[in-house]
Amino acid sequence: MKNGLYIVATPIGNLQDISPRGIQTLKEADVIACEDTRISKKLLSLLGIGLQKTFITLHDHNEAEQASKLIDLIKDGKAVALISDAGSPLISDPGYKLINHCRAAGVYFTVIPGCCALICALQLAGLPTDRFMFAGFIPNKDKARKDLFTELKDIPATLIFYETAPRILKTLAAAAEVFGNRRMAVAREITKVYEQCLTGTPFELTEAFAAQPPKGEMVFMVSPPEKNTPTATQDFEEALRRKLATQPLKTAVKEISESFKLSRNEVYQTALRIKDEI
Ligand code: SAM
Repeated sequence: MKNGLYIVATPIGNLQDISPRGIQTLKEADVIACEDTRISKKLLSLLGIGLQKTFITLHDHNEAEQASKLIDLIKDGKAVALISDAGSPLISDPGYKLINHCRAAGVYFTVIPGCCALICALQLAGLPTDRFMFAGFIPNKDKARKDLFTELKDIPATLIFYETAPRILKTLAAAAEVFGNRRMAVAREITKVYEQCLTGTPFELTEAFAAQPPKGEMVFMVSPPEKNTPTATQDFEEALRRKLATQPLKTAVKEISESFKLSRNEVYQTALRIKDEI
């Protein structure tokens, strides 16, 4: 096997979800760079792979330091497999600094693709998939959580976050406050026996989870803002102003109230005000 770094995806629940190439690479690698040696040794044993290899831990706090050690090993002719506890390395997991070191040192590196929790969740959710944004873990502090949601609120894409079960009710409450009634989804225990993906309004999801508190790992998703939903950047008044310039007041009010899902009376009052200003 050629010396270099091999980024290998591992299963996120079902042991079968690793590619034959992934297994072959783990078998042949001289060194396994991983987050937790106990978890990785257990995985390799379950896959029937011998443990006569060097295991080196790599996490957020020691990545820069360990990277030079790993580069030296690669330059010495070794094949290093980088794995996470589960899923795709580098995605909310360590590794990107190591890749930068590989680039700088000019050593060979490649990826052996496979499971990634955020992609599996998006596939299950039934929310738009044409444009999405992964925003990592949701902060645990109330203010930081709300600030993050507010920052992302107007982005025209499905938002995807990693979350844990004990925090989901707080997350749904904050999401309802910031995103309103947009459709949301929670995918949990993906590829495991109790896999579940619920999609609905924040109220429906809260009701479901309040009745039966969820367990396990989960991915939280929020559908994009509807095109006609008034937002800071897309105010209905602006649209109304444009309509009033070309249409009779009655028609403009009817069309704007329908497309922005606002009461006719509210739009009518605004239209009168705008007409007065003109
Ligand atoms: N790098 C991994 C990946 O993207 O595949 C994710 C690692 S991150 C440290 C762990 C988070 O991924 C969990 O807290 C959860 O949000 C999500 N996750 C991992 N496995 C999952 C599963 N089976 N079902 C739902 N979410 C999962």
